Order: sequence, then structure tokens, then C-alpha cells
Amino acid sequence: MRDAVQVLVIGGGPAGSTTATLLAREGFAVTLLERDHFPRYHIGESLLPSCLPILDLMGAREKIEAHGFQKKGGAYFEWGPEKWDLRFNELDDTTYSWQVIRSEFDHLLLEHAKSQGVEVHEGVAVREVVFEEGRAVRALWENTDRGDSGVIGFDYLVDASGRAGVLATKHLGSRRVHDVFKNIGVWGYWKGTQPLEPGPDGAIAVCSVPQGWLWGIPLHDGTMSIGVVTSKRHFREEQAKHPDLAAIYHKKIAESPLIAGLVDGAELVSDVKAETDYSYVTENFAGPGYLLAGDAACFLDPLLSTGVHLATYSGLLAAATVSSILRDGVDEENALSFYGTAYRKSYERLLVLVSVFYQSYRGRDEHFFEAQRLTTREKQGLKLHEAFLNIVTGIEDLADAKEEAYQAVARTLAGPEAASSNPLANHNASMEQLPDAPGRALEGLYLETEPKLTLRRAADARVEA
Ligand SMILES: Cc1cc2nc3c(=O)[nH]c(=O)nc-3n(C[C@H](O)[C@H](O)[C@H](O)COP(=O)(O)OP(=O)(O)OC[C@H]3O[C@@H](n4cnc5c(N)ncnc54)[C@H](O)[C@@H]3O)c2cc1C
Repeated sequence: MRDAVQVLVIGGGPAGSTTATLLAREGFAVTLLERDHFPRYHIGESLLPSCLPILDLMGAREKIEAHGFQKKGGAYFEWGPEKWDLRFNELDDTTYSWQVIRSEFDHLLLEHAKSQGVEVHEGVAVREVVFEEGRAVRALWENTDRGDSGVIGFDYLVDASGRAGVLATKHLGSRRVHDVFKNIGVWGYWKGTQPLEPGPDGAIAVCSVPQGWLWGIPLHDGTMSIGVVTSKRHFREEQAKHPDLAAIYHKKIAESPLIAGLVDGAELVSDVKAETDYSYVTENFAGPGYLLAGDAACFLDPLLSTGVHLATYSGLLAAATVSSILRDGVDEENALSFYGTAYRKSYERLLVLVSVFYQSYRGRDEHFFEAQRLTTREKQGLKLHEAFLNIVTGIEDLADAKEEAYQAVARTLAGPEAASSNPLANHNASMEQLPDAPGRALEGLYLETEPKLTLRRAADARVEA
């Protein structure tokens, strides 16, 4: 382990690997410390098409393509009385994504980071970050195999430690759990499931049940990931009746004719897993000497499969931000402010969409879905883009708001336009607000990927033009 490095990344999940790879490809010295040894288990298997252009920028697309993950053509929803498909190729026939076994996907990305020059240490956890006069300057690490420890200095720290959130939970104390999405996810893996008949090829099945919703995700090893999301309150009530987690899981599956049909004759081949505390956000996504990427900064209910998208997207933004400061003389405060604004905007936009989606439910028992409504306080806390403010406020009095919400979700997930030669075109379409041109600048800066990854001042671009 070196004593000091230009950029230190904590965590080797999608956010950490993306940031580290992109920075190493720009010529920076990057060390990544990962607590576990890969391949390691992780939930979050259903990806969005927005990961494709980022994998292109990382030079990792071919490796992922070659691995043989299940291609995902979109999603099939049974939501209350409604049934419909979301087809990624509807507007652009090159758009698709994958359903991935995360241990394999994350491992491929971490190995790719090594191949691009990132110094990766597995089995090494960051225990503490040292601040001097408010600036993050060093990290204390511990090798969890050998028990030895040490210190590494850095110019920039990217905390991509996921839900563990080293900086947010240990140092900044600024993680806030949202009032909405106080849910719990319970899931397992099945062998011998029936194929999903409706929906595009390799689709994720999402279907509501009276007190929540279930997912079904086909994986390339022939298993299917099947999970249920319900409120913590309802889960506790169920626990009083069925202390066994697996019993609650099976009961919920039986409530959905679609998912019960998929597992008819199939065998549960894993233990039943659970995760809670569904949605949180950190007050500041960046500060002197540090940035928070992926789940380390914020986390969103998995209804629209947005986690890996947010992780890789923030990884791209973080890499551009750090390189603009270290190499291109962009003012640190300005660049960090761009990062925080851009990432928060994407997160909040999806937060609103997920909430709108939940609100659009018209079923027999609306209690669970009503509880996912953004509170007035939540809405006031968001710095929303005007269009989304309209969705949030409109939903409360528009009879046909459901249709509007579905369309907004479809536009976000599939993208409204055909891809062009620009590798960010799909991403641009699916985010709609990617700050990648002077006209879409945030804090006076915009993202540039060619000829180098950086942030550019919109004013300079206008002068050059
Ligand atoms: C029930 C459920 C279902 C989900 N379904 C989906 C889905 O279908 N699609 C989707 O896109 N997302 C889904 N998600 C979300 C997705 O799992 C995450 O958003 C995504 O993994 C975030 O990536 P990340 O790189 O930020 O963090 P992670 O992937 O969690 O990686 C963080 C890494 O940091 C390491 N680490 C932690 N602490 C330290 C430390 N102190 N020192 C060094 N290393 C450390 C960890 O070992 C880990 O490898 C789901 C989440 C849940 C809970």
C-alpha cells in the first residue's frame, strides 16, 4: 500500500469501480480499497439501459457483453388493475439492458478497473477518514485478513462504500431517512421457474399485491430472483403471526397470481434475505477533499431498478469533477457544487417518479401505496425541476395522473429518442437532464467526455463559439 495517492476510492461496487476506472483512464493515480473479497454477494440485479454508454466510456462494455448475462428487453407491470409492458426498444431498437448476477457483474467491473491501472486492495476496510481544518486528507485502513493497519493520504477521496456510508454515517452525521419508503425487501432465488409469458424478452416482472409489490428477475444461471417489498409496519404485523421470515415470504408470493405462477413447481435454492431502511439522502454530496458516490450518498426504493444507474452515473460525474479540479484548474468549490447539484437532481427526480408511481396505484387496499406519498415536508425539501413539481402537485388533483406518471416513467427508463454516435446519447435520453452541453450547465459548468473527461465552463464554451 502506498503512503499517498492522488485519488482514493472507498468501495469496489459499481460506483467505486466506475469512478476509479474513469479516473485511471484519464491518467490519474487511483487506489481503491474494498472491504470484502470479490466476487461477493450483492442484491440489485436488474439494470437500466443508461449503464450502456457509461460502460462504453469505461471501456468495459465488451467484457460485460461477452459474459453472457441475461439480456433485458424491458419490464412487465401488473399494477393494481393495470397490465402493461415497458419495452426498451420501442423508440430505439438498440436499447436494452441486462439482468445480472451482481457478484459476477461487480467482479468484472473491479477486474476491469485493475486492468485500467487502478491499484485495488481487497480485504482492506477504511476505518476512519482524517480531516484537517475541515478538509479530508487521509484515511486509516485495516487489512481484515491480516489485521495490520495503516494510513494513506490523498488529494481526493471518493466514498463509494454503499449503504455502509463511511463518511455520511461516521464523520458527517448527515444521512437523513426519508419519510416515504419505510419499507422492507425480502427475497430469494428459485430454480425451475416457469418463463414469464407476457412482456419483452428477459423482462423484470413487477406486480402489486395488497400491501406491497413483488419482483421476478430471470438470471443467466437459470435461477430467478424473486422478492417482495412491503412496509415495515405491515411486516411487523405479519411477523407477529409468522415469526419465520420464509413463511412471510411464501405468503406474499402466494398473494400474486403472476409470481405464484412463475414459481409453480420450482424450488427455492437460497436462504431468504432481507434489507430495510429504504430511502435516505445525505445533506452534502461533496465537501473539501471528498465526494460521495452511489448509495454512499443516497438510496432509493428499488421499484424502478435505479440503484446501479445512480451508482454509475454518479461515478461518471465524480470522475469528471475530480479530473476538472486536479488537472484542468476548475475551482474546487464550483466543481463540487456542480457535482452535488447534478447528482441530487437525478436522485430527486427519480424519487419523485417512484413516489408518483406508487401513488398511481388504484387497488383494493391502498394503505401501503398511500404511505409512499411524498409528504409536504418532503416536497418542500426537494429542489425540483419544474416539470417534476408539476407531476407531484398534478397527481393530487388529476384524474388521469396515472397515465402521465406511467409515461414519465417510460420516458425516463427507455428514453425518448434514438441513439446517435454520441456514446452518451442513451444516457442523455434516459436522464433528459444530463448536464453535458453549455445550455444545460449547472453552476456554470457542464460535463465533457471528449477529448478528455472533465467539467467545462459554459462561459468559456460560448466565447470559443
Ligand atoms: C432489495 C433491493 C433490491 C434492489 N434491486 C435493484 C435492482 O433491481 N436494480 C438496481 O439497479 N439496483 C437495485 N438495488 C440497489 C443497488 O443494490 C444499489 O443501489 C447499488 O448496489 C449501489 O452501488 P454502490 O457501488 O453505490 O454500492 P455497493 O454496490 O453496495 O458497493 C459498496 C462497496 O463498498 C464496500 N465497503 C463498505 N464499507 C467499506 C469500507 N469501510 N471500506 C472499504 N470498502 C467498503 C462494500 O463491501 C461494497 O462492496 C436494490 C437494493 C435493494 C436493497
